Amino acid sequence: MMEVNTDPSSSSWTDPIILYLQDGTAPADKQEEMRSFSLPLLRCLTPYEAEYALREVHEGVYGSHIGARTLAHKVLRQGYYWPNMYKDAIQFIRRCQKCQFFTHLIHQLAEELTTLVAPRPFAQLGLDLLGPFMRGVGGVTHLIVGVDYFTKWVEARALSNLTTKKVEDFVFISIICRYEIPSQIVADNGTQFNCSSFWDFCSSYGIKLQFTSVYHPESNGMVESVNKCILKGIKPRLEQHKAKWADELNNVLWTYRTTSRTATCETPYHLAFGTEAVIPIEIGVPSFRVTHFDEGRNGQLLRENLDLLDEVKEEARLRTLVYKQKIANFYNKRVQPRTFKVGDLVLRKAGLTGYETRFGKLAPN
Ligand SMILES: [Zn+2]
Repeated sequence: MMEVNTDPSSSSWTDPIILYLQDGTAPADKQEEMRSFSLPLLRCLTPYEAEYALREVHEGVYGSHIGARTLAHKVLRQGYYWPNMYKDAIQFIRRCQKCQFFTHLIHQLAEELTTLVAPRPFAQLGLDLLGPFMRGVGGVTHLIVGVDYFTKWVEARALSNLTTKKVEDFVFISIICRYEIPSQIVADNGTQFNCSSFWDFCSSYGIKLQFTSVYHPESNGMVESVNKCILKGIKPRLEQHKAKWADELNNVLWTYRTTSRTATCETPYHLAFGTEAVIPIEIGVPSFRVTHFDEGRNGQLLRENLDLLDEVKEEARLRTLVYKQKIANFYNKRVQPRTFKVGDLVLRKAGLTGYETRFGKLAPN
């Protein structure tokens, strides 16, 4: 039902006033009796007429879907009055469907931040696809990225076509065979991840699959931040040869793995293998451990490092918790909770539904 019409002859807020003017009967409630009208002479409208006035000014021939405050003022300026004009105008605009379609997008955060802390290395894996890029050697156009939530270790591979089979191969070869079977994979609900084939693949290894919305990439925040790092690393290395992005990938991954992360204050390499990798600078300007390399002693030192690894990991875990808590505190300050009940009707953002490309600037939001 779009409209409810009230009978113009039904009771109205003007009734007691008319009664008073006709036979001098004052309202029983003293509070109501004392109300004064300090406005110039305005025509008093019944609820039925008020609804009409709002509709005409808001969406009539001359209306342009103005906001509640402007709407109430405009009706008042035109010489009409009824109690609760502003409140009624707000209610009226809330019900206007066109206003809802074209309203500004709400950017205010509606929910507190959920932080994910993985309990052990390679237990939780974030997956994402990046691209398309300029076609590289072998026809590669996209990048698949897998990040371990605990060590922040990253694996990535260039792909020529985006099929679920390729995603499965990546998880099997680059993650499962090299490290271990993760307990959980977090990915967006893109078609390559959210399909029966990938579900079957994951359940055959006992991996729990969890999805975040494509419309809300922030919810897979860690993978998104790694993506940014990879792109930032690749871009300046390319210069004029943009198609060579896939060739630069391994260099960038190496840098990423041997650079300490803010969250853990450790390099992903250290957390994964218990020691720091030898990087090119240690060859160019020989470091102590390179110049004093002793095969026998090296084995002993590595074993000692491994004994200490649990402690390093525990410290990194605590640092991550503190870091995430800090981020959550900052984020949650800006949250304006918005909740929905089952059965509430909501509108989807039109940004990713193709409306924008069809209607351009005139598209609904
Ligand atoms: Zn409207």
